[in-house]
Amino acid sequence: MERQQEFVLRTLEERDIRFVRLWFTDVLGFLKSVAVAPAELEQAFAEGIGFDGSAIEGFARVHESDMLVKPDPSTFQILPWRAEAPGTGRMFCDIQTPDGTASYADPRYVLKRALAKAAEKGFTFYTHPEIEFFLFRNEPEAGRAPEPVDSSGYFDLTPHGVGHDFRRQAITHLESMGISVEFSHHEAAPGQQEIDLRYADALSTADNIMTFRLVVKEVALEQGVYASFMPKPLTDHPGSGMHTHLSLFEGDRNAFHEPGAEYQLSKVGRSFIAGLLRHAGEISAVTNQWVNSYKRLSGGGEAPNYICWGHNNRSALVRVPMYKPGKSQSTRIEVRSLDSACNPYLAYAVLLAAGLKGVEEGYELPPGADDNVWSLTRAERRALGIQPLPSSLEEAIGLMERSELVAETLGEHVFEFFLRNKRAEWAEYERQVTPFELGRYLPVL
Ligand code: GLU
Ligand code: MG
Ligand code: MG
Repeated sequence: MERQQEFVLRTLEERDIRFVRLWFTDVLGFLKSVAVAPAELEQAFAEGIGFDGSAIEGFARVHESDMLVKPDPSTFQILPWRAEAPGTGRMFCDIQTPDGTASYADPRYVLKRALAKAAEKGFTFYTHPEIEFFLFRNEPEAGRAPEPVDSSGYFDLTPHGVGHDFRRQAITHLESMGISVEFSHHEAAPGQQEIDLRYADALSTADNIMTFRLVVKEVALEQGVYASFMPKPLTDHPGSGMHTHLSLFEGDRNAFHEPGAEYQLSKVGRSFIAGLLRHAGEISAVTNQWVNSYKRLSGGGEAPNYICWGHNNRSALVRVPMYKPGKSQSTRIEVRSLDSACNPYLAYAVLLAAGLKGVEEGYELPPGADDNVWSLTRAERRALGIQPLPSSLEEAIGLMERSELVAETLGEHVFEFFLRNKRAEWAEYERQVTPFELGRYLPVL
């Protein structure tokens, strides 16, 4: 820690960095930042920097509003879109109360607690997200349909395509900030892009996702387009998921891998999936936190709508990707529910907790769904014991409210705030008279 702090302070001098942004995330997953002068950093490392927590969504009540941001020197990076001297750096921060204890309102601390629980059992949790998002020509404007930057589809490569140059610039920035990118391509919907990050421990991945969202927004601004992580912006096209590949390691050994087992998937891997399935409903409000999230899930387009797992089944909630011979380290599972607008710290915490519960309790994995579950009738699905995911935020909130697993994982403060906030969002949505209703009913009724 000392050495890392010295490294940061030295880099500031050597690279002429005059602004340091201290980053943290609110409960709904919005990035927050306070810039400090380099001269303040030593104090920030030692004692933290004070701020008014009551002004941050989900942090503190007014009478207990003093909070501290304490930078994590291991996360220091220079912002590449602010490269001209004097430069700007950033660090992710932990949130503390004035007496120096970690704040229960901090999503990063929620994930850290979940990871510590896994570590007690000897597990490290790795994640690798596939982040989908849209590029539109126009800034959002109420009542105006978003206009995608192109009309391309899956894996299309169009000469001078906006998406192509966009991805190239975004990836260059990400790599310069130490975030490795594995794949990138045009996704199925017009204007839709996907960039996949290399696997990393879940805390680094969650930090990387927060950085990713800002980089993508910044590059869009530079290039005169508008980037959005909204789960389902276009009625007639697929939405944006954030499929995430998960694995547990015990030291250097992939705990999901067992040579010779079906799909080379170990008992730990199987019960982990069983945990994800059994708790899928109650964690849904966290992995899919907006009213709009449920339009994606029920809209087809390879988004999962049913609680089942499969091998190569892209309509399943959990997919076990094909095993590549000799690659025992890469045995993993892909969760397809979460969307690109979730709070990654909270989402990874509840996924880990659900999976671990399955491992701890030795849940049995039900048979995989080989058919396309979309094409089954309701009765066929029922006969196979396949339940739907919640079909609305309201239903998801109802399941979360009764969940001990989610309450325990998020901690009382975040759990209560989240539910209160989401109930209010639903109530506001429910009272709207929508363009659909006006278009459908006004002419005939
Ligand atoms: N866009 C799809 C979703 O919402 C996923 C497409 C894919 O398989 O990558 O989940
Ligand atoms: Mg995709
Ligand atoms: Mg995928």
